[in-house]
Order: sequence, then C-alpha cells, then structure tokens
Amino acid sequence: MHIAVIGTGIVGVATAAWLQRDGHKVTFIDPKEAGSQTSFGNAGSISPSAVLPVGMPGMWKRVPKWLTDPEGPLVIRMHYLPRVLPWLFQFLRNMPEAEVTRIAGAIRGLLAPTFDCYTPLLQRAGATSLLRRNGCLYVYSSREAAERWRFGTELRRSLGVEMKCVEGEDLFALEPALRGRFGFGQFAPDNGSTPDPAALVQALYTQALKDGAEHLRDAATGFGMRDGLVHTVELADSAPLEVDGVIIAAGAWSKTLALKLGAAVRLETQRGYHVTIPDPGVELNRNVMAVEQNIMINPMQMGLRLAGTVEFAGLNAPPRMERAEALINVGRKVFGTLKTENYTTWMGHRPCLPDSLPVIGRAPRAENAWFGFGHGHVGMCGGATTGREIANLVAGRTPGIDLHPFRAERFRRA
Ligand SMILES: Cc1cc2nc3c(=O)[nH]c(=O)nc-3n(C[C@H](O)[C@H](O)[C@H](O)COP(=O)(O)OP(=O)(O)OC[C@H]3O[C@@H](n4cnc5c(N)ncnc54)[C@H](O)[C@@H]3O)c2cc1C
Repeated sequence: MHIAVIGTGIVGVATAAWLQRDGHKVTFIDPKEAGSQTSFGNAGSISPSAVLPVGMPGMWKRVPKWLTDPEGPLVIRMHYLPRVLPWLFQFLRNMPEAEVTRIAGAIRGLLAPTFDCYTPLLQRAGATSLLRRNGCLYVYSSREAAERWRFGTELRRSLGVEMKCVEGEDLFALEPALRGRFGFGQFAPDNGSTPDPAALVQALYTQALKDGAEHLRDAATGFGMRDGLVHTVELADSAPLEVDGVIIAAGAWSKTLALKLGAAVRLETQRGYHVTIPDPGVELNRNVMAVEQNIMINPMQMGLRLAGTVEFAGLNAPPRMERAEALINVGRKVFGTLKTENYTTWMGHRPCLPDSLPVIGRAPRAENAWFGFGHGHVGMCGGATTGREIANLVAGRTPGIDLHPFRAERFRRA
C-alpha cells in the first residue's frame, strides 16, 4: 500500500519504519523538519517504568500550592482557563485509585516492549548508540519523603517494574553528584534513555528515506473520501495526495484531523520546558527523576538537560521562557555546584488526553485510516511500540498488546 504518515515526530517516523518492514510505500506529510517539534527537546527518558498517569489519587490537594509557586510544576494561563476547563474536568474523573490502576496497566502494556520495538529500527539505522539501557533513578530527600509516593511505586511494582530501594552510600555509588540533597532512591534497572531525542528521530527518518520514503513538506488539512475509504489527503499548498491508507501522527495538532475521520478526541497540549546546560560541572551516569521537585534530569550529548513543567496555554500562545528559567533555579537547589553558563531553553507541546492514554487504532469513519497520537509525557517511551502496533493493524495481524484502552471510541463519536 501507499501510506501517508502525517507527522514526522517520534511516532510518525517509528510507524513509517514498521510499515516499511511490511513492504509499504510511505510518504511523510509534514511542513516542518523531522523531529523538530515535541520530539526535539524532551527529557529523553525511554522507560518501561513510566506507567503512572499524570493525574494521581489525591493530587488535586497539591494543585493550589503548585499554582501559587513561581517554581512550581503547574501553570494555567488565565486567558486559557475557560478553554481548558472541560478537559480538566475529565482529567479529574480519571484520578480515583481504580481508574489510575487501570490506566497504568494499559500504559505498561504499551511501554514494556519498548526496547524490543526500538532495537531493530535503530540497528537498521546504524544508531543503536542513541538508546542507552542503564536504568533510571527516582530520587527523594529521604525515605520518609518517598512514602508520599508509595502508591505509585507499589503500583509500578505490581505491574512488573523492578524498583530497587537504594539509600545513603548505595545511592551515591550510583550517582556521586546526588550527595547532599538526596538520601533515598528507587532504582529502575530496566529503564533507559536517549542521549539525543532529536538525533534519534532524525536517524529513523533518514533511514526511512533511504528505504524509499518521500517527504511532502506541507500541512494536511483534510481527506477525500470514497466508499468509506480515504483516497486522498488534502494539503494546504499542494494538490491532494492519492493514498491507499493514512496514519495520523501529528502529535498535539492531531485533533482536527481526527475529527474529520470521526473521532472527537479531547486532545490538549501540556506545554513543557527544558534547559540544556553545555558545561554544567555536574556528572550524572543516567536519567534521574527528582520526584519532589518534579523535574527529569538527563545527561545528554549536548549537555545536562533539566525538563519539566506542565503549562496550560494552548497551541498558539508564545512560550514563557521564565518557566524554563525556573528549572535552572530548581537545578541550582538540587546540585549546589551547578554551573549554568550558556544554557539554552525550549518549549514543546505534549499531546495529552485526559486519561493520560494515547489514541492508537483505526479511525471510526475510514477503514484505511489509523491513529497514533496523544502520547503525552511518554511519546519517546511509547513511540516504537505504537509504530509496531499500527503496522499490525494495517496488516490485519493480531495486535502484540491489548489496544482496547487506546481506541478512539472511548470518546464520543464525532
Ligand atoms: C519538556 C518535555 C519533556 C518530555 N520528556 C519526555 C521523556 O523523557 N520521555 C518521553 O517518552 N516523552 C517525553 N515527553 C513527551 C514526548 O516528547 C512526546 O510525547 C512526543 O515527542 C510526541 O511525539 P509525536 O510524534 O506524537 O509529536 P511531535 O514530535 O510533536 O510531532 C508531530 C509532528 O506533526 C506535524 N504536524 C502537525 N500538524 C500537521 C499537519 N496538519 N500536517 C502535517 N504534519 C503536521 C508537526 O510539524 C510535527 O512534526 C516530553 C515532552 C516535553 C514537552
């Protein structure tokens, strides 16, 4: 089949690679460079342990404090509050323990095969060095402080994630730079990360082009339908492209395209920020999640990256780089010796559904259109598995994981 893949973020390029393994001809549609949007500046964690939804039981109690703290992890811009309220209402409904447990089980299904799904693609692209499997450390000031997160840790364990308690000198043996601020950690040895998310996406994209894919630099605007099938993708500035099938992998921008194919999904952007410090004077061996500070710290090829923050302000409002500056302040508190010269800042749009689950599956209104978007905080973790599963659906094979929780029909039909 000739399949158009709309979007060249991690989900689009991984899906293209899996489709090509089945012999399909791929045309990417994206006005932007591959991996230049949300997949560019994320924290690079590729972790099968990242199973917890964003909304956790009792979390709402901490929201007022977060909203009033300039260095806090959550911001809602006032102009955007009326727009985001219905989404927030749905989000709250997914916070009870039973829902969180169900959601975490579904995410675990998606993330557990992540290395199996990335490895063949990166081998083919000659880019296996862009995936490290050296564990991830969740750190806390003390064992007592970690108690507040016990529910999440035990939920991870119940889903098969190995989480080893490490304390005092054992913690500093893993990460000497953490001495001082932290006293307790949970080490997840099966986790990993990429030293450069943008390079990882570029590597898969370049290989896809070598394997015959083309890239049409234009924005998809709609679809021409015939007998319940998409037969053309309509484009902003070019003639419609004739296709045998289409994949919507346009990240936070997927909502209107999905609506045209029959799915009224509640997709919202959770804007996140990073700072990358080229010469931080601090060495880490692996990805570290400072849980109380709500930031992910990853040693990358281009420097130490600190990433976090959830900001509700929509797709069009300009970035507020003071949010990134706040990460620098948190970083200084975490590492007393952090040098911050020449740091760079960035903002990206996490594509988020209120139940923290992506949409993966066939479009309600077209038999030859499939969705792969809405991966929220775990698009790097789940991108390759999503690609494999979409290829399974296109081929009519039995899915390798339970895709029921990810179906578009969990929202009302358009
Ligand atoms: C600060 C931060 C830290 C993060 N850390 C992590 C992490 O450590 N691990 C993790 O797993 N995830 C992390 N994430 C989340 C992760 O980055 C995203 O889930 C992931 O990048 C989404 O990938 P995507 O391919 O769906 O979207 P994108 O990378 O945004 O790609 C979507 C593409 O679609 C294109 N597009 C949009 N509209 C159209 C159209 N109409 N026609 C054609 N093309 C279109 C865009 O130009 C873009 O290239 C983080 C996110 C942020 C913001």
